Amino acid sequence: MPSCFEGYASYAVRDDNSLGRRFEEPRPKARSQFQRDRDRIIHSAAFRRLEYKTQVFVNHEGDLFRTRLTHSIEVAQIGRAIARALSLNDDLTEAVSLAHDLGHTPFGHAGQDALNECMREFGGFEHNLQSLRTVDQLEERYGAFDGLNLMYETREGILKHCSTKNARLLGSLGERFLNNKRPSLEAQICNLADEIAYNNHDIDDGLRSGLITLEQLEEVSLFARHSDQVRKQYPGISGRRLIHETIRHMIDTQVTDLLSESGEAIAKSGVETLTDVHEASVLIAFSPAMQEENRLLKGFLREALYRHYQVLRMTNKARRIIRDLFTAFLEEPRLLPPQYQAYASEDKARAVADYVAGMTDRYAMKEHRRLFAVGEI
Ligand code: MG
Repeated sequence: MPSCFEGYASYAVRDDNSLGRRFEEPRPKARSQFQRDRDRIIHSAAFRRLEYKTQVFVNHEGDLFRTRLTHSIEVAQIGRAIARALSLNDDLTEAVSLAHDLGHTPFGHAGQDALNECMREFGGFEHNLQSLRTVDQLEERYGAFDGLNLMYETREGILKHCSTKNARLLGSLGERFLNNKRPSLEAQICNLADEIAYNNHDIDDGLRSGLITLEQLEEVSLFARHSDQVRKQYPGISGRRLIHETIRHMIDTQVTDLLSESGEAIAKSGVETLTDVHEASVLIAFSPAMQEENRLLKGFLREALYRHYQVLRMTNKARRIIRDLFTAFLEEPRLLPPQYQAYASEDKARAVADYVAGMTDRYAMKEHRRLFAVGEI
């Protein structure tokens, strides 16, 4: 075996303390089990589709905006750095980060809300659960099993939230939500790496789009503090360089804060094993001061960017597209592609939700035209 566990803390997830795969497979020859998981995720169809799914801006609105793919890569980069600095399993953190958004619908949160609404009478739709369903069931790549047959801890990390009702249906993976247990530290890192990534890249994309301005951001303490530092360090700096230097400094401050706060919390908790981690409280966290600054930043982004009228126009349109598609397929499942028709006979609504959720933004728009525009085929 490669010596990839050297240097891991005693409470890190390793191949030899993992609960393993659902279907037994020969061990990988030149990789760890979690490197294999990361590689399987990268080769999946759902991962490639992230390139054409909205983060905030719809894919065709501009070539420089983040998509779910570049977002996931940024989360993985931040997560890996944190995991490595805390002597945790960075391959696991990377795998979970790359997979955390696989179940997202087209058109970001607007799409997810619309699909959840459509599925209300049929068990609902949660994107976290859909990410798990994608890696457990929907991917068709292997002869011996459905899905990617990932390690337990990778699946546990992907299932960030889950309703109590759904947790009861998930067997051992749902138990932690019912018994109030924590996932691995590697999974806890992904949640906050996600937050660091989107808060910072949404500032960047928001400014690039012109929907928010530097003047507005100077009212947000976390941004103002760092742009001040940058101006002092580089007098006369402006434009894109000022923005990027400021964001770079913000990410650095947030990661550094997280590392020192979490390092202390881990030491104080006395955890020694992975089992201890499950029993302990959440140990990966920002300092209270940083939490407050993040809360203010998020509040600003929500009001100024996510609820900007131009963004709302798009999300409103997106909601209608998702609703139209769902309704049309539910009314007439014979309009579905054959592989979805096959299981629509067992669970029509879920088959329709899987099909719609898997669509990219542009594919959903194309399907909408095919179904509703006279003269299109
Ligand atoms: Mg995310």
